[in-house]
Amino acid sequence: MPRALITGITGQDGLYLGELLTAKGYEVFGLVRGQSNPKIATVERIIPGVQLLEGDLTDLSSLIGAVEISQPDEVYNLGAISFVGLSWKQAELTGETTGMGVLRILEALRITAGNDLSRVRFYQASSSEMFGKVRETPQRETTPFHPRSPYGVSKTFGHYLTVNYRESYGMFACSGMLFNHESPRRGIEFVTRKISRGVARIALGLQDSITLGNLESRRDWGFAGDYVDAMWRMLQQDEPDDYVVATGETHSIRELLDVAFTRVGIDDWTPYVRQDPRFFRPAEVDILVGDASKARDVLGWKPTVTFRELVEMMVDADLELERESAGQALTVP
Ligand code: GDP
Repeated sequence: MPRALITGITGQDGLYLGELLTAKGYEVFGLVRGQSNPKIATVERIIPGVQLLEGDLTDLSSLIGAVEISQPDEVYNLGAISFVGLSWKQAELTGETTGMGVLRILEALRITAGNDLSRVRFYQASSSEMFGKVRETPQRETTPFHPRSPYGVSKTFGHYLTVNYRESYGMFACSGMLFNHESPRRGIEFVTRKISRGVARIALGLQDSITLGNLESRRDWGFAGDYVDAMWRMLQQDEPDDYVVATGETHSIRELLDVAFTRVGIDDWTPYVRQDPRFFRPAEVDILVGDASKARDVLGWKPTVTFRELVEMMVDADLELERESAGQALTVP
């Protein structure tokens, strides 16, 4: 039975990856931080049999402990402060977790591996935010980086470090440059989920409007369930390498609003959307669109969910969730 250790198992991707690996017969270990982490119950419900270990990407000895206990064949480093907007407000914490956290987990593997560093396979969750103010379109593995936020800078550090440990120590270390990937499990601070949840609540009469920032930016949005499969495929190859994972399509926030509101029968969303400078960013990534030809050709990976299907899936899930909680609120005295 292969063994996998996932950092960031309580996040969107951790949950999908944990499910995927469990279905493939892996023994899954997950790192959880903090005391009485409220997400533990969700992880245990979605990934039956998961073994949770206490640890933190800012604490090297806890990572060494987690590696010693789990003895993993594969390590997926998904843990990070992952919200770009927050990364300006908590830049140091973002650097420590999203950037230096990669160094610590790689060091934990190096320190515990003894002489055989090629035994463990390592996946680093790199990001399209590294491309930032893009130098070419579409972005591919060779496109130069120009990150635009403390988050993007930290991810760039993690990416180069992963490449460096591969080159320095012969580690089987892969970096997945994943473009935005979403799902009903996405955090409510991200624009896709903020919109799907807001639209559901507006349709049910629970909310009047959604307040957003820049409506012009464009992203290459895919389905997170598809993207974790690409992570796994990277670690099954003969040689470690870096891959862009993307749909190859780009859409604006306005198009996202079109699809989401149409799903609940609203054709003109302008009365329901406000803008507030609070949600604009100090530096913006205007457009992202990835070229995933390498992932397609080498990994045999391709996305299965279209942009429209993704947005509709998220609106439908939020409608159900909001109906449930509204129903509960009615029955609880
Ligand atoms: P990111 O690509 O990782 O930053 O993912 P987000 O979902 O947080 O943001 C995607 C894009 O939506 C960015 O260009 C944001 O500036 C834009 N955006 C516009 N309004 C909002 C908002 O209210 N919240 C968020 N999170 N993003 C917004």
